[in-house]
Amino acid sequence: MLAFVWGCLWGSFVNVVIYRLPRDMSVVRPGSHCPQCGVPVAPLDNIPILSWLVLRGRARCCNAPISPRYATVEFLGGALGLAVAELVFYEAPGQASAVYAVALFLADFALAMALLAAAFIDAAHMYLPDPITIGGTLLGLATCSLRDLTLRGSLFGAAAGFLVVWLPLVVGYAALRGRPGMGLGDAKLVMLAGAWFGWQGAVFALFAGAAQATLAAVGLFLAHGKLVEPAAVREDREVLQRAAAAGDPEAQQVLEEDPLAREPEAGLMSARLPFGPFLCLATIEWMLGGQWVGEHVAWLRG
Ligand SMILES: [Zn+2]
Repeated sequence: MLAFVWGCLWGSFVNVVIYRLPRDMSVVRPGSHCPQCGVPVAPLDNIPILSWLVLRGRARCCNAPISPRYATVEFLGGALGLAVAELVFYEAPGQASAVYAVALFLADFALAMALLAAAFIDAAHMYLPDPITIGGTLLGLATCSLRDLTLRGSLFGAAAGFLVVWLPLVVGYAALRGRPGMGLGDAKLVMLAGAWFGWQGAVFALFAGAAQATLAAVGLFLAHGKLVEPAAVREDREVLQRAAAAGDPEAQQVLEEDPLAREPEAGLMSARLPFGPFLCLATIEWMLGGQWVGEHVAWLRG
């Protein structure tokens, strides 16, 4: 229960990160305010999940609808807090010291929150912020000894994770089709998985992520008949196109170079589904269940 509440509170902060990081705003200051009318949110109206339910998904100040995403992220934060606590405090070997257990909990929980933020940012904007991917990689290197991983194993995992995406998919696919299949952000995210969990974690994140992304793509395609681009990506492109049409040379250059700046072609094969959320999901799965996977899949054993 304590771990769930703790997780919800951080989930509330993750909401701030999801909103502000892509907009280049400080995640610390100012305090929460209504995204619609700018009125500061009173502490009582800022209780994770409960406030959203009590106010029925509307802001008290101006009655603007508040996305269920806020309560969802808070709930996911709580669930992840609970899962990491279970993993660390109940399944850790009995001889582990309390200090070690707390350090492992804080590290794993920080990773879970970072991945939660990255998944939602990528889902909306189709980009993965460097502070999360590179910062998370550095944190993984710094805390590798908590996970029985040598610094060498952690560094190797990070390098392998980055190269396995960057070399064939970014370089090779761009050469074949004239545009990169996955972004550099995806490569940095697999690098993060490798820094935290060695090459096994990177391999699992990539393949389990790809498998789940494929399932989701097929499922969405069957349900809607097409894959819809995130609204923010479409809006960004429209702003760019207007600026370029007005003669802004910088916007024209971005339109030429950024694959997201072009309209997606029709069809399932060229549809754009953000891959980051699935990489984040698979990395969390490996964190929570990697030991079990390693026991059953011999070549992924650490
Ligand atoms: Zn308002």
